[in-house]
Amino acid sequence: MDTTSPPADSDQEWILRLVSTAGKRLFWRLDGSLEHAITVAPSEYYEPDAVMEPYFIPASDDLDAAPRWHAVSQESLLTPPVSSITVRIQCIDNWERVWADQHRECWDAIHDSDRRRLGPRPGDETLDAPMYVLECCLQERPWSRDTKLEVASAGAFVTIHEYVSAVHPWLMGMRNTLLDVLGKTVCQPPWPAETKLAVLYLGPGPLRIGHEDRWAYWHKRPPGPGNLVAYPSGEERARKVIERAKARTAAMVRAQEEAEAVIRGLDPAKWYQNRY
Ligand SMILES: [Zn+2]
Repeated sequence: MDTTSPPADSDQEWILRLVSTAGKRLFWRLDGSLEHAITVAPSEYYEPDAVMEPYFIPASDDLDAAPRWHAVSQESLLTPPVSSITVRIQCIDNWERVWADQHRECWDAIHDSDRRRLGPRPGDETLDAPMYVLECCLQERPWSRDTKLEVASAGAFVTIHEYVSAVHPWLMGMRNTLLDVLGKTVCQPPWPAETKLAVLYLGPGPLRIGHEDRWAYWHKRPPGPGNLVAYPSGEERARKVIERAKARTAAMVRAQEEAEAVIRGLDPAKWYQNRY
């Protein structure tokens, strides 16, 4: 989700919004109806022995109780609360970036105009619009920009129930697409249809979808001050070597892109800036 938007009653201040403690308690599977998809952890952190609570509580004749949702359903999803949210999905966004990376060095294709088309984003009719690779190697660019969902509150702020009621069917409707891009972004086949998908992380930033086994990792309790371990010197050295290698790779990629832009008769600085 876009958690950096100004609030509806904007005072021009940009506020970082975090998922509330109640929101972090959701264990949200992409499986079946909303009534059965979500359970609620006792706290925001994963505990191996925790007893999960049902999000949907059916009617009970014994207690003469009507069906109802867990108490967290009425809490704010974000803190501070917000009246509307734009939801995005990380793996969908990642796939467009990976696709652009995969086709950045299609040097042969550059000389074959049937196989590589450049142009502005479809629908962008502004003058001097940014240029993109629209098609390469007979593949159309997988635009992620329009894969988003606006969730607006009917009340003062977006509650957890308003959010999951809107987002769950949206995600279920694109389950196959999610399985496909989760594989493709790591150059693998689509994940199998029976994969147990879950929302691992609700923000800040786009929703992270993955295998439900990873939920515990994303809800790990952070180490207390007494548990922090200093980097061993060997690890620190290795980390710096990796950082330097990454910097060299980035410089090489940029040099290749600028060369490509020159070949295409484009302004290298603008090409680089607009490569996604
Ligand atoms: Zn290509």
